[in-house]
Formats: sequence, structure tokens, C-alpha cells
Amino acid sequence: MAKTMAVNAGSSSLKFQLLEMPAEQVIAKGQIERIGLKDSIVTIKYGDGQKFETIEDIDNHEIGINKLLQSLLDLHIITDFNEITGVGHRVVAGGEWFNQSVVVTENVLEKIDRLAEYAPLHNPANAMGIRVFQKLLPNAISVAVFDTAFHQTMPKENYLYSLPYQYYTRYGARKYGAHGTSHRYVAERAAVMLDKPLTDLKLITLHLGAGASITAIKDGKSFDTSMGFTPLAGITMATRSGDVDPSLIYYIQEHEKLSNAEMLKILNGKSGLLGISSISSDMRDLLDVIDTNDHAKLAIDIFVNRVVKYIGQYVAEMGGIDAIVFTAGIGENSVPLRKMIIDKLGYFGIKLDEKQNEKRGSEIEISTSDSAVKALMIPTNEELMIARDVETLKNK
Ligand code: AMP
Repeated sequence: MAKTMAVNAGSSSLKFQLLEMPAEQVIAKGQIERIGLKDSIVTIKYGDGQKFETIEDIDNHEIGINKLLQSLLDLHIITDFNEITGVGHRVVAGGEWFNQSVVVTENVLEKIDRLAEYAPLHNPANAMGIRVFQKLLPNAISVAVFDTAFHQTMPKENYLYSLPYQYYTRYGARKYGAHGTSHRYVAERAAVMLDKPLTDLKLITLHLGAGASITAIKDGKSFDTSMGFTPLAGITMATRSGDVDPSLIYYIQEHEKLSNAEMLKILNGKSGLLGISSISSDMRDLLDVIDTNDHAKLAIDIFVNRVVKYIGQYVAEMGGIDAIVFTAGIGENSVPLRKMIIDKLGYFGIKLDEKQNEKRGSEIEISTSDSAVKALMIPTNEELMIARDVETLKNK
């Protein structure tokens, strides 16, 4: 059977999943870490709990990906490189050029390169991953799956900032959003769980991980989303600030004598849960000390406040709501966080079923049967969505 590789290439790491398609069965997954550094690590999990790990210096992506593919052969996960008939790549910024996944051509690659201006840390690494796989697996179809594509359906009044219009026409200054593949996946699953066509539903999907974003989905399309021109905007995140009055940034820069680059580093890496609590960026650490540490409690309270505030906005914007969906690290795993959020949403007719909320497993309805608005927990699966897009484009 044909195998598809879902790839998420970063500047010093690369995550992958190998799926049997169209059976949608994961046959191996893993990562290459510390590319370009000493003691790089290649990890492959496969079979029924088997794990392969090797530590050696990997100087660049090509050497790393070669090592990965060779290891798949050595471990008998594949018998020939040609078994991998498709490779789907996560690409962070797709700008206004891409409103869906596409087969990678020279022209597509050139656009991904040009969009590095919007995502300087990600797009160049994504493009490099694409080029290396194209070289090593020349017979496989290569597909780019954009984080921003799902949000291209937002109406103009929702994606434009109230800035002079020429900045939009000159520079594409607008909201692009992110996590689109995750929001799209959980929305599709929510429609299945609710047994209704997605196009008939008003959903709010909460991707609450280290990076976090909230999306309003109306008529099956992204209608509004909390991340902005970059993934720095929106709700409080692990280390990212989310929305801040822009004047305050200049005020702080002036007083602290910070350069633009330094300030951006603080907003991206030293703010959010970490910045407020001074303890940790990890929600688990904060929940552990919520009763004894005021700053941990404050960070959690601010996080919950921002989530609830965006939900309120989106219910108003869509003119109603059928269900909210929790996903990603915090959304999938944190029983207390889900409770804190839902307890504030009684006004909209959401009632938490505490027993259901405590359940572990996949795809759980956590609202009561008489809840007017449903609450669901759905583990995200961006890799599967990428593999599905490869499959769709392969069969076109
Ligand atoms: P992600 O970016 O989706 O991988 O999510 C990572 C984040 O999920 C981490 O920063 C943790 O704070 C959070 N997380 C994972 N498990 C839990 C849990 N059981 N309770 C609270 N937060 C969690």
C-alpha cells in the first residue's frame, strides 16, 4: 500500500509521521532534533511500541533526512524509497496566495520563499524540508499544507486592521491567523460527533497548546481567528503575550532602552504564562501551585479571561453558537482548565458534565445532555489532515 509522509520541518528539527494511505494508519513517527548542532538525535517509533534512537552529529537537513529514510529501510518499515508516494509539508505562512493545500511546483516554492518575510523563523525551514525531500524522493508527489490557508475565508471586516488601507495593499498588512490545519481537522470531527453537516454549524474551536488560538467557524469556513499578522496576537500563550496595546510596547521600549529585536523577543519568548507567573510557561506547573502561588493563579486567571473574552466576541460575531471544541496540549489534557472556562460560559447555555470532563480518551462530549450549546474535547491530528490533503491531490 502507498505510504505518505507528513513533515513539519523547523530550523533545527524535523518531525514526521509515516502513514499508510488511504487506510490512515500511522506506521512510524518521530523526529530529528539538534540539526546543525553536536549530538543530533534521530528518533523513530514504530510497530507495537518499538523505538529506534541514534545520536550522532547531523550537520544539515539533507544529512538528517537521508539518515531518517535509510533508517526506515534498515528497520524494515519500508522496503523501498518508492513506497513513499507522497510527502506533505506543513508550511507556516501562505499569505493570500494559498487558500488550500497545493502540489509543490517551482512557482509554489518561490512563493513560499517570498513569504519568509511574514514568517522568518519558519518558512525558510519549511522550504528547505520540501527541497531536500524532493531531491531524495523524486518520484513522490510533494504537497504544501499551509497553516494560514483555512483562514483565507474570513470576511474583510474581520481580517483587516483599522490602519491606513495602503498598508494592506502595499505590504499585505492584515490578519492571516494560524493553526488552520488543526482548526479544520477538529471542526470536521465535531460535525461528525454532532451528526450534522459542518456547513450548518456555528463552532468555536479552541486550540490551546503552547501556542494558542481560537477560531470562529461559520458555514464550515473560518469566519474569524485570534492570531493576527503573525502568531503573536490573540490570547495569552505559554511565552507569547497575545494582544497588547501597541503604544505600550513603545512606552516600555523607551523606558527599558530595548531595541525592536529585543522587544520582539520579550513579546514572543518571555511573556504570556511565563512572563506573568515568573515560574513556568507550562500550564501543568502553574496548576500544581495554583493554591499557594498568587502569580501562578493570576497567570491562569488571565489565560481563562482571554479565552472567555474571545468566545464572547465570536458568539456575537457569528450570531450564535452550537458547540465549542477543546484541542491541543491544554485543551485535550487539562480537566481543571476546561472546567474553569466552561464555568464562565453558563450565560451562553453551556453546562459541563463533570464526569465526562474527567474521562480520558479520544473525542469526548463534555457537556451535559441538556446543554443548549455542546462542549467537545477532540485531540487534534494535523499529520492526518496533511496526509489526507496529499491523498486528495494525488488522486486529482
Ligand atoms: P502543544 O503545544 O499542543 O503540544 O501543547 C503543549 C502544552 O500543553 C504545554 O505547554 C503544557 O502546558 C500543556 N499541557 C500538556 N498536558 C497538560 C495537562 N495535563 N494539563 C495542563 N496543561 C497541559
